[in-house]
Amino acid sequence: MNIPPITIGILGSGQLGRMLVIAAAQLGIKTHIFAPDADSSPAGELASSTTTAAYDDFTSLDTFATKIDVVTSEFENVPSMTLAHLAQFCQVSPGTTALHIAQHRVREKEFALRHGILTPDFWHISDSKSLHRAMAELNGPGVLKTCQLGYDGKGQVWIEPSDDLDSSYATLGSDDAILEAAVHFDAEVSFLLARAADGRVAHFPASLNTHKNGILVRSVAPAPLSKSLLAYGHNAVETLAEKMDLIGLLAMETFVIGDSTLLFNEIAPRPHNSFHWTIEGCATSQFTQLARCLAGMPFGKTESYGHWQMDNLLGEDMEEPHQLASAEVHLHLYGKKSSKTGRKMGHTNKQIKR
Ligand code: AMP
Repeated sequence: MNIPPITIGILGSGQLGRMLVIAAAQLGIKTHIFAPDADSSPAGELASSTTTAAYDDFTSLDTFATKIDVVTSEFENVPSMTLAHLAQFCQVSPGTTALHIAQHRVREKEFALRHGILTPDFWHISDSKSLHRAMAELNGPGVLKTCQLGYDGKGQVWIEPSDDLDSSYATLGSDDAILEAAVHFDAEVSFLLARAADGRVAHFPASLNTHKNGILVRSVAPAPLSKSLLAYGHNAVETLAEKMDLIGLLAMETFVIGDSTLLFNEIAPRPHNSFHWTIEGCATSQFTQLARCLAGMPFGKTESYGHWQMDNLLGEDMEEPHQLASAEVHLHLYGKKSSKTGRKMGHTNKQIKR
């Protein structure tokens, strides 16, 4: 196989970029980080080169474009005009349509519904009146979320019909919101696939996820899901990727109810925290698969080597050194300069018995 010497441009400089940089380097692929804090960041300190500039600095983007062969974003909140601008010069991943849809909670749920994928009941909220109307229709507990820029449980308020709705809406800090019915799920499961520019796809085994305060704390894989729900999930994420013409990775988070219902929660068109176990757990990790995909290489195998557990190390976990010293785990630390409660500092992967 002849691998051309290419450089992958990466927008963003966090841990997902860092793990992509490591995977690319193993394949002899160079990486160039573009971010406002590129120099001293988890990804920037390992990349072949960096550009420190704002995402709307078009002069710097033009220079960046001359130094890379393809570009991807390690987070979905990069301004869409940044990717659209770079698309004039090179192949962009995940693609401008995918990014536009994934950046907005109502857009992504409407897109899922349009393609026959079930979601929790939801309402687009743009003012206090629409929230009162929606809560009256819901007639039960719900979750009010900002449509954009929310992550790790931020930008979310749980509400009951008896709550002071106006003050709940005010605490959100954004007018553009979504109200979702609170789902009494039995499990949370995520799906991931890679899709190449020519439409080839490769699925990963699904992950079973546990969240605390809206933050992922543990993933176990492969998720013990019925054959029919697995097929539904794989089919759903593949349909979404195809319909949005996505190149790269697409993760889909879902709620599982009983043995027969899977509800779409959200998508992320990038590597996903719940698939960090693939680094040691699969022949091809999610990061390697993305690098291969962007370099135009064939996909690697994604079957898991047995069962795996991934535990996130948050700021508060770093005070327990025994966690880090455990000999049975594969330890991954992201080299972040400062630690605080809830911040993802690293993760551990270990093989488990089922
Ligand atoms: P999200 O940012 O939408 O992924 O939400 C973070 C976490 O909050 C999810 O992984 C769930 O554990 C919980 N959550 C979010 N939306 C709902 C919902 N509609 N019903 C029940 N739990 C939810």
